[in-house]
Amino acid sequence: MLGSLVREGFRLTGNPQEAEIVIINTCGFIEEAKQESINTIIEHGELKQSGRCRLLIAAGCLAQRYQRDLLQQLPELDAVVGTGEFGKIAAICRDLLQPKRRHRRLWVSRPPYLYDESAPRLRLGAQHSAYVKIAEGCNRNCAFCAIPLMRGKQRSRPIESIVAEARRLADEGVKELNLISQDTINYGVDLGIRQGLVSLLRELVRIKDLRWIRPFYLYPQQVTDELLDLYAGEEKITKYIDMPLQHINDAVLKAMHRLGDRTAIERLIDRIRTRIPGVTFRTAFIVGFPGETEAAFAELKTFVAQAAFDRVAVFLYSDEEDTPAVRLPNHVDRSLMEERRNELLAIQETIATAKSREKVGSVLEVLVDGPSEETDLLLEGRHEGLAPEIDGVVYINDGTASPGELVKVEITDASTYDLVGHIVS
Ligand code: SF4
Repeated sequence: MLGSLVREGFRLTGNPQEAEIVIINTCGFIEEAKQESINTIIEHGELKQSGRCRLLIAAGCLAQRYQRDLLQQLPELDAVVGTGEFGKIAAICRDLLQPKRRHRRLWVSRPPYLYDESAPRLRLGAQHSAYVKIAEGCNRNCAFCAIPLMRGKQRSRPIESIVAEARRLADEGVKELNLISQDTINYGVDLGIRQGLVSLLRELVRIKDLRWIRPFYLYPQQVTDELLDLYAGEEKITKYIDMPLQHINDAVLKAMHRLGDRTAIERLIDRIRTRIPGVTFRTAFIVGFPGETEAAFAELKTFVAQAAFDRVAVFLYSDEEDTPAVRLPNHVDRSLMEERRNELLAIQETIATAKSREKVGSVLEVLVDGPSEETDLLLEGRHEGLAPEIDGVVYINDGTASPGELVKVEITDASTYDLVGHIVS
């Protein structure tokens, strides 16, 4: 959207008070995200009185999903723009700015849109690290998940399109490429490409100036030896596996409509750790799925304690309209879900702290992100086991380097999520 707007002559501002058009890119994934999106719309609606705002637009997943409801219930909104209409955002803004067109509008189609390498792109934030979406939509039907309802079936971008975009990004100075989609392990199946992710990664590692390639969101199925060997043998692919497991109890996994049971998951984790020595394993779980008994949760706790993942995110189950889980019996109280989340996070905190401390004394390759957000006296960067904006950072308290530079850092201190060290020659 930023790329289209700038190409069409709109000027951007980071200060909402100054903006004549305010676009809120919403998320509709889980209850907390929906609430945050709605609060943001309401908050920015006040700019019509206190600022210069003439148009307030909701875009993104929540807009795609609740289209008319949003327009009806939030009178401050001038337009709702779905996920299939991103490419038209500049035209939509121009249209709405015309005095005689000032009736409130919905621009929502089914979600066929998939950008390609020709889409204009403007990247905010770090210039040496970029996200690239390799596919959109999801063919699975996890019982708790509304994403297929919002994003449709999987549509993968052709390998050539992704490679062309990645080349351009590398020419612009990108060193770290973060590959995202809803179901990255399944990349390419809709295009009939066998082992699509392997084929894609083989092409991407040939781009000279890229240093790290980091795929996100691997479903714990169809993980082939070829893929793991590529991770292990190709230095540009970060030894970082991001694989949401959601639960470990067989009955809960089945009710969630997840493929694979506990035995299969444990075997897969062993295979990954054996084939990719030193791998960082990040996962996510949902607590409070309907029917999650005390025993099922106890099993999850023991599993988390034993599996010793590097990082664990814990989400509370929330009823998402039109998903099968809504109709399941034995919903869990929110207060109990919160208790369960806290228990799981406490277990993980002990593990994460110990793992972090193991790094003290080692020398790691760190991608420098720039001056620290905490203080200009420190630099901030990440080793390959730390994903941008998700995991912790490495604070660098001695030595100089520019954003995007890879340097060797000797680690001298560690907290649960962050490390501290100095640059060594
Ligand atoms: S694989 Fe992920 S995106 Fe697809 S339905 Fe399951 S949770 Fe949702």
